Amino acid sequence: MIRLLINGSKGRMGIALVAGAMEDPELAVSAEVDEGDDFHAALAGCDAVIDFTHAPATAAVADACATAGKPLVIGTTGHTDEDRSRISSNAKKIPIVFAPNFSVGVNTLFWLTQKAAEILGPDFDLEVVEMHHRLKKDSPSGTARRLAEILAKARSLSYEKDVLHGREGMVGERTKSEIGMHAIRGGDVVGDHTVIFANSGERLELTHKASSRETFANGALRAAKWAVTKPAGLYDMQDVLGLR
Ligand code: NAD
Repeated sequence: MIRLLINGSKGRMGIALVAGAMEDPELAVSAEVDEGDDFHAALAGCDAVIDFTHAPATAAVADACATAGKPLVIGTTGHTDEDRSRISSNAKKIPIVFAPNFSVGVNTLFWLTQKAAEILGPDFDLEVVEMHHRLKKDSPSGTARRLAEILAKARSLSYEKDVLHGREGMVGERTKSEIGMHAIRGGDVVGDHTVIFANSGERLELTHKASSRETFANGALRAAKWAVTKPAGLYDMQDVLGLR
């Protein structure tokens, strides 16, 4: 039995995680922690931590898990480069699964996106479109960012320099080196992502639509079971699913 501390337990994902863990005979929830609760006190009684909170909170969670020697699964998105490097350095001490999306379908989309970029080559214009519910705080989504990173790597471009967030005014003709990124917000959409490869005369679109948070929760619970068997290191859902 693996005892889990669910951090962000009152949030949309936290509620799905607690419900999913309670249905799994291999898992138990030793602590449901949210803002204002004593995370450090709860840490001692768990075998692994799952964090779906807000980006500014995660680096301190990683520090505490590394000190206590507890494996960590991070689903939270929207981190700064500084947060990311603090999380990475903690992964020298504990296994950390850090993934912008825990669904099997989206991880297959990551794989397909890389293959399509390699096969279609530099003549195709690249655009990423995402839509999420009106309450989402960070933009673009962590999944859209990862898709653009995959495209940038496949084309020897840079996420920081070549991704263009939205277009407004006299922006001029599209250049070959830009990757367009567009974030739509509204309603209760759980998460839609489309990667567009557009050339003269044809267009390929790869789309994933999540209709339930259970898919992310089940993936994160699977990642926690996997992480407790692994040595220290920084992993993502591609590692958990054996897609590398
Ligand atoms: P939410 O706002 O519904 O829930 C976040 C919860 O975290 C809230 O209950 C909040 O009180 C709590 N929280 C904030 N700061 C905290 C702290 N310091 N300590 C403990 N708890 C704290 O958000 P959500 O929809 O559940 O999403 C949470 C995060 O997960 C977001 O970053 C979102 O983008 C991400 N997300 C990732 C995936 C994935 O597959 N990786 C899927 C869905 C959502």
